[in-house]
Amino acid sequence: MKLCKWHTLVFRCPSCGHDAEYAAEIIEGPRKGSMWDPAYWCEKCETTLRARDKWLFGAAFGPLMALVGTFAMQAVPPGLHLAQWLAFAFAALCCGVVGWPLSRLLSRHLLYWEPLDPAGLRRAESRRLREDDD
Ligand SMILES: [Zn+2]
Repeated sequence: MKLCKWHTLVFRCPSCGHDAEYAAEIIEGPRKGSMWDPAYWCEKCETTLRARDKWLFGAAFGPLMALVGTFAMQAVPPGLHLAQWLAFAFAALCCGVVGWPLSRLLSRHLLYWEPLDPAGLRRAESRRLREDDD
């Protein structure tokens, strides 16, 4: 199995409570998800997970990035006569600088990780109930 570590996402395993500074997407192997619904892996309890409400994340992240890009393009002083590609590079840089922490923040609050197999789902459910009791 091959994993790709997305450091732009923060991860919290619903089954074991494991926190990671990245989300490990399965890009090769029998449990790999589809392009639109990729599977992720918890390295601690070895559970396959998927990200629920990812569209919500995209719906918030996409427009915000477009906004940052637009602002960055307009922030280039007209007197500077920057080449078009340089202005685009500047906008991309701004998106990267803003997008990195923004993506982590959004993934922390908007993404919900959920085990793929029913047994894991039940385990995560009972864990959540236990946590509510505390
Ligand atoms: Zn786990």
